[in-house]
Amino acid sequence: MAAPAAIPRRKLTSYVGFGNLPNQVHRASVRKGFNFTAMVVGETGLGKSTLINTLFNTNLVPGGEERLAGREGAQTVGIDTISADIEENEVRLRLNIIDTPGFGDFVNNDSAWEPILQTIDARFDQYLDQENRLNRSKIVDNRVHALLYFIQPTGHALRAIDLEFLSRLCNRVNIIPVIAKADTVDPDEMQQVKQRILRDLEFHNIKTVQLPIDMDDDEEGIAETEEIQSKIPFAIVGSNDMVRASDGRVVRGRAYPWGTIEVDNELQSDFVKLRQMLIRTNMEDLRELTDQLYEDYRAQKLLSLGITQDDTVFQGMNPGAKQAEARALHEAKLAKMESEMKAVFQRKVSEKESKLKQSEEELYTRHREMRNALDQQRAELEDRKRRIQNSLR
Ligand code: GDP
Repeated sequence: MAAPAAIPRRKLTSYVGFGNLPNQVHRASVRKGFNFTAMVVGETGLGKSTLINTLFNTNLVPGGEERLAGREGAQTVGIDTISADIEENEVRLRLNIIDTPGFGDFVNNDSAWEPILQTIDARFDQYLDQENRLNRSKIVDNRVHALLYFIQPTGHALRAIDLEFLSRLCNRVNIIPVIAKADTVDPDEMQQVKQRILRDLEFHNIKTVQLPIDMDDDEEGIAETEEIQSKIPFAIVGSNDMVRASDGRVVRGRAYPWGTIEVDNELQSDFVKLRQMLIRTNMEDLRELTDQLYEDYRAQKLLSLGITQDDTVFQGMNPGAKQAEARALHEAKLAKMESEMKAVFQRKVSEKESKLKQSEEELYTRHREMRNALDQQRAELEDRKRRIQNSLR
């Protein structure tokens, strides 16, 4: 699945729900439009493309087989980005989906996490660079706001690859764990499966997304957020196929000889809650949580450059302080460049000096040799002169 050159504009075939975003954020963002970037990680065949297409009710991401066809012989995890501008109720959303084909598919998956972490960090760095520019009105937020991690529906404990990946990434990105293909798990066992996963995560100190509770929110809003949070890890069923339910309704779902699973039915999977969180009610929370993760990253980065961040100042709100900080960063960069240039200059001077010393020594040696040769010549001539004089006497 290669990234398309131009960003396609999608007409949504049905109501998705992000038109509700103006209630989540202030008007300036509404005018400019939103940028939301989600990453999907999990082995091939777990239903990543299907879920993304189900979420946005559009064929945004090609299926696993089509994607695999372009990756024959690949030895590493790929990073593919698909963007689409989608619009609902006059609200524009630039949606970026980063797919990671190949994750967990190789014989050796030891460093499967690495290209994914690098991608997240590179996007933080890009944001940091933009922040350090003097003109910040055009900052494009390409940071990864959510990472959907697909867990196999086996019901067993998390595997080594899951734990390794989640431990390495959980301080960089909002991890949303999902149990893939939940219709393959016995509904009576699902709660136990979820508990086992949560216990594993806690035991290994793995942080997953924790939605903020806004105490100014009304009771209903608070209860809604708590309800969404309680469903994590989300048990997911995805499908964009229309099937006939037992009562004759035509619904999005999966048809089986024993009956139909409806994706939009809350009693049958957590898909509805996941969509609600990602798109309808908590997209802005996820962006704010990303700000916090970014600030931690940024503080570490500045520290590595020898600059200590004043956390009371950095709230993303104080332009004066931010400018001073940008100046400090800029000055630190200049100082670093200057000291590097000094070091280069010093090295060149010492090289030149040692070369001069060497040629001086060579000259001395030659001079000494010539003088010795002359002295010897003179002694020989003196000797000859003496002998001739003696013979003439
Ligand atoms: P990807 O490789 O992770 O992107 O997986 P795909 O989305 O291409 O799905 C792989 C296969 O699993 C396809 O045949 C899908 O129809 C099927 N699939 C996707 N989601 C579900 C689901 O929720 N339940 C079941 N039973 N099958 C699914």
